[in-house]
Amino acid sequence: MAESADVLVVGAGLAGLTAARDLVAAGHSVLVLEARDRVGGRIVNQDIGDGNVVEMGGQWAGPTQDRLMALAADLEVASFPTYDTGQKVLHFNGKRGTYNGAIPRINPLVLVDIGRAQARLESLAKKVPADEPWTAPGAEKLDGQTFETWARRNTASRGARTLLALAAEAVFAAEPGDLSMLHVLFYSHSGGSFQRLIDTTGGAQQDRFVGGSAVIAERLAIRLGGIVRLEAAVSKIEVTGDKVAATTAAGQFEARRMIVTAPPLLAGRIEYEPALPPWREQLTQRTPMGSVIKCQVIYDEPFWRKDGLSGQATGDGAGSRVVFDNSPPAGTPGVLLAFLEGDEARRLGREPLEVRRGAVIDSLVRYFGPRAGQPQDYLELDWQREKWSGGCYGTLFGPNVWTRYGHALRAPVGPIRWAGTETSPVWAGYMDGAIRSGEEAARLVAAELG
Ligand SMILES: Cc1cc2nc3c(=O)[nH]c(=O)nc-3n(C[C@H](O)[C@H](O)[C@H](O)COP(=O)(O)OP(=O)(O)OC[C@H]3O[C@@H](n4cnc5c(N)ncnc54)[C@H](O)[C@@H]3O)c2cc1C
Repeated sequence: MAESADVLVVGAGLAGLTAARDLVAAGHSVLVLEARDRVGGRIVNQDIGDGNVVEMGGQWAGPTQDRLMALAADLEVASFPTYDTGQKVLHFNGKRGTYNGAIPRINPLVLVDIGRAQARLESLAKKVPADEPWTAPGAEKLDGQTFETWARRNTASRGARTLLALAAEAVFAAEPGDLSMLHVLFYSHSGGSFQRLIDTTGGAQQDRFVGGSAVIAERLAIRLGGIVRLEAAVSKIEVTGDKVAATTAAGQFEARRMIVTAPPLLAGRIEYEPALPPWREQLTQRTPMGSVIKCQVIYDEPFWRKDGLSGQATGDGAGSRVVFDNSPPAGTPGVLLAFLEGDEARRLGREPLEVRRGAVIDSLVRYFGPRAGQPQDYLELDWQREKWSGGCYGTLFGPNVWTRYGHALRAPVGPIRWAGTETSPVWAGYMDGAIRSGEEAARLVAAELG
């Protein structure tokens, strides 16, 4: 016998949990079906002892991420500023330099070049409607080229192109050649501007959550109680008449409506009966996930702070090309968060742990000196190996996807509604976007159910 509810929600990440919260509040019965043995999806904490945690998935919040901050406040999860005091390190063209503020000390011609290219990008981004990017002026042309081709045409120096590539890796966990230019513009507009995506104070990396971001999902799931079913991977979705049924690893479920919050790639791996419309099917064939390994390197203290460094570093060499101070709020132990993104995640993800650890620590020594070579511990999570994410931070739209299939991203199919951060016009790809998408899907479904 199938267990039934008004609404089935697939996925207990922030989108699914938020949708369930709002539907329950509107008086509907809901069951949340989650493949993993935990809630949170792309956010997860790891214990590092003495009551401290590090975040192995999504972690930061920034200005205008109002729905995330509202949810955290409701669940009494406090935030604190990311450590952003002192100089940043740039290791570029084989040379190490430090700088204050947003502008590194490099060849002024490269600075002018990148400044011009970014100004052009920001101005184009403003014209891309974040709810329907395919209607932007010149959408076909922008979607027919990658960020890399655009950068070649819009910069004069190799230095500027390298800096744009570093920014693309940091924001998308992908290379410029993986991304449609229209997608880069959509994503920038969705978060406010490209600058806001890359900034720490004043940008998407501004704040962290006490106890780690995953407590938000955990507390929300506790509130929802027994309606969240773990280890319930949905393998088949069947629509018959006005009912939708799910076959899962934890049994059969049925409802009047379903909200699927898994990213399009994973939603596409579920079997549908009847088959999905071809445009939805083809969309999910064209929406790969980014490539990231998140590494946390732990020291007895944040020694870089005494050297006047913020712990933030960027470079064009091997290993980690983006580093942040990720120490707990009290400041000990010292934690350097080192990302392997795009090609470095692809390359080092195939190596044994010791090789990868060596490459990450070598890059930290390049940025912060020999003390970085003596960590107490090294932790990592390779999101490329996560069966129920398929990669991270989120979905990459390559050329000709937004303009050909963008319309299928949110369009309902019978009783099925699509949510998840990828579907949000605001802060797509971020925790805030996930929450907004859950709230929106719940609003639509609640209105339909009456
Ligand atoms: C390393 C990393 C760093 C990041 N950094 C940030 C950051 O600093 N700030 C920020 O805002 N965002 C960040 N993000 C992105 C952010 O974590 C995500 O945007 C957000 O958590 C997505 O939530 P979601 O609910 O849309 O999707 P998910 O969290 O992916 O939830 C979908 C759920 O569906 C489940 N699922 C999949 N398939 C099935 C199935 N067949 N049956 C049942 N369940 C299924 C999955 O297990 C998952 O729990 C980061 C992500 C990663 C991985």
